[in-house]
Amino acid sequence: MKAIALIAHDRMKEKMLDFVKTNQGILKDYQLIATATTGKLIKDNTALEVHCFLSGPIGGDMQIGAQIASEQVSMVVFLRDPLTAQPHEPDITALLRVCDVHNIPVATNLAGANIFLQALVK
Ligand code: PGA
Repeated sequence: MKAIALIAHDRMKEKMLDFVKTNQGILKDYQLIATATTGKLIKDNTALEVHCFLSGPIGGDMQIGAQIASEQVSMVVFLRDPLTAQPHEPDITALLRVCDVHNIPVATNLAGANIFLQALVK
Protein backbone atom coordinates (compact mmCIF):
# COMPACT_ATOMS: atom_id res chain seq x y z
CA MET A 1 0.00 0.00 0.00
CA LYS A 2 1.24 3.48 -0.81
CA ALA A 3 1.90 5.94 1.99
CA ILE A 4 0.28 9.18 3.06
CA ALA A 5 2.91 11.87 3.62
CA LEU A 6 2.39 14.40 6.42
CA ILE A 7 4.42 17.60 6.70
CA ALA A 8 3.66 20.75 8.67
CA HIS A 9 5.63 23.92 9.19
CA ASP A 10 6.10 24.93 12.81
CA ARG A 11 3.15 27.29 13.11
CA MET A 12 0.91 24.72 11.41
CA LYS A 13 1.83 21.73 13.57
CA GLU A 14 -1.10 22.05 15.95
CA LYS A 15 -3.47 22.08 12.99
CA MET A 16 -1.78 18.96 11.64
CA LEU A 17 -2.16 17.22 14.99
CA ASP A 18 -5.86 18.14 15.12
CA PHE A 19 -6.30 16.80 11.58
CA VAL A 20 -4.53 13.55 12.40
CA LYS A 21 -6.41 13.02 15.65
CA THR A 22 -9.75 13.72 13.97
CA ASN A 23 -8.94 11.25 11.19
CA GLN A 24 -7.08 8.68 13.23
CA GLY A 25 -9.67 6.01 12.42
CA ILE A 26 -8.88 6.39 8.71
CA LEU A 27 -5.15 7.03 8.95
CA LYS A 28 -4.48 3.91 11.05
CA ASP A 29 -5.11 1.82 7.91
CA TYR A 30 -2.40 3.62 5.92
CA GLN A 31 1.34 3.71 6.05
CA LEU A 32 2.26 7.19 7.26
CA ILE A 33 5.49 9.00 6.47
CA ALA A 34 6.49 12.42 7.74
CA THR A 35 9.29 14.88 8.25
CA ALA A 36 11.01 14.39 11.61
CA THR A 37 9.38 16.96 13.86
CA THR A 38 5.91 16.55 12.40
CA GLY A 39 6.18 12.77 12.67
CA LYS A 40 7.43 12.85 16.25
CA LEU A 41 4.57 15.12 17.26
CA ILE A 42 2.09 12.66 15.77
CA LYS A 43 3.75 9.62 17.32
CA ASP A 44 3.94 11.26 20.75
CA ASN A 45 0.28 12.25 20.74
CA THR A 46 -1.49 9.40 18.97
CA ALA A 47 -1.26 5.62 18.68
CA LEU A 48 -0.29 5.88 15.00
CA GLU A 49 2.87 4.45 13.49
CA VAL A 50 4.81 7.01 11.47
CA HIS A 51 8.00 6.53 9.51
CA CYS A 52 10.03 9.69 10.06
CA PHE A 53 12.49 11.12 7.59
CA LEU A 54 14.85 14.02 8.33
CA SER A 55 13.45 17.35 9.44
CA GLY A 56 12.21 19.42 6.52
CA PRO A 57 14.87 22.14 6.58
CA ILE A 58 17.74 19.64 6.54
CA GLY A 59 16.50 17.45 3.70
CA GLY A 60 13.30 15.76 4.86
CA ASP A 61 11.19 17.42 2.17
CA MET A 62 13.59 16.09 -0.43
CA GLN A 63 13.49 12.59 1.05
CA ILE A 64 9.71 12.61 0.86
CA GLY A 65 10.01 13.99 -2.66
CA ALA A 66 12.12 10.96 -3.53
CA GLN A 67 9.38 8.68 -2.18
CA ILE A 68 6.84 10.50 -4.35
CA ALA A 69 9.09 10.19 -7.41
CA SER A 70 9.38 6.46 -6.68
CA GLU A 71 5.56 6.14 -6.74
CA GLN A 72 5.45 5.20 -3.05
CA VAL A 73 3.00 7.94 -1.98
CA SER A 74 -0.74 8.18 -2.63
CA MET A 75 -1.39 11.58 -1.07
CA VAL A 76 0.50 14.45 0.56
CA VAL A 77 -0.75 16.75 3.31
CA PHE A 78 1.68 19.63 3.42
CA LEU A 79 0.49 22.33 5.79
CA ARG A 80 2.70 25.21 4.73
CA ASP A 81 2.93 28.37 6.76
CA PRO A 82 1.78 31.00 4.26
CA LEU A 83 2.97 33.90 6.43
CA THR A 84 6.55 32.93 7.28
CA ALA A 85 9.53 32.70 4.93
CA GLN A 86 11.24 29.32 5.08
CA PRO A 87 14.99 28.76 4.64
CA HIS A 88 14.29 25.63 2.61
CA GLU A 89 11.93 27.27 0.13
CA PRO A 90 13.67 25.58 -2.85
CA ASP A 91 12.99 22.18 -1.27
CA ILE A 92 9.33 23.07 -0.73
CA THR A 93 9.00 24.12 -4.36
CA ALA A 94 10.68 20.90 -5.44
CA LEU A 95 8.30 18.80 -3.34
CA LEU A 96 5.26 20.49 -4.84
CA ARG A 97 6.74 20.14 -8.30
CA VAL A 98 7.39 16.42 -7.94
CA CYS A 99 3.74 15.99 -6.85
CA ASP A 100 2.69 17.67 -10.08
CA VAL A 101 5.13 15.64 -12.17
CA HIS A 102 3.73 12.39 -10.74
CA ASN A 103 0.12 13.60 -10.48
CA ILE A 104 -0.06 13.00 -6.72
CA PRO A 105 -2.75 14.88 -4.77
CA VAL A 106 -1.16 17.42 -2.44
CA ALA A 107 -3.22 19.40 0.04
CA THR A 108 -1.58 22.54 1.38
CA ASN A 109 -4.39 23.47 3.77
CA LEU A 110 -6.88 21.66 5.97
CA ALA A 111 -9.87 22.17 3.70
CA GLY A 112 -8.08 20.34 0.91
CA ALA A 113 -6.68 17.70 3.22
CA ASN A 114 -10.14 16.76 4.48
CA ILE A 115 -11.59 16.52 0.98
CA PHE A 116 -8.67 14.49 -0.34
CA LEU A 117 -8.76 12.06 2.57
CA GLN A 118 -12.48 11.44 2.13
CA ALA A 119 -11.93 10.83 -1.58
CA LEU A 120 -9.05 8.45 -0.87
CA VAL A 121 -11.10 6.15 1.34
CA LYS A 122 -14.10 5.93 -1.02
P1 PGA B 1 9.58 19.19 10.37
O1 PGA B 1 9.77 19.67 8.90
O2 PGA B 1 8.39 18.33 10.43
O3 PGA B 1 10.83 18.44 10.72
O4 PGA B 1 9.43 20.44 11.21
C1 PGA B 1 8.71 20.35 8.26
C2 PGA B 1 9.25 21.34 7.29
O5 PGA B 1 9.64 22.43 7.70
O6 PGA B 1 9.30 21.05 6.09
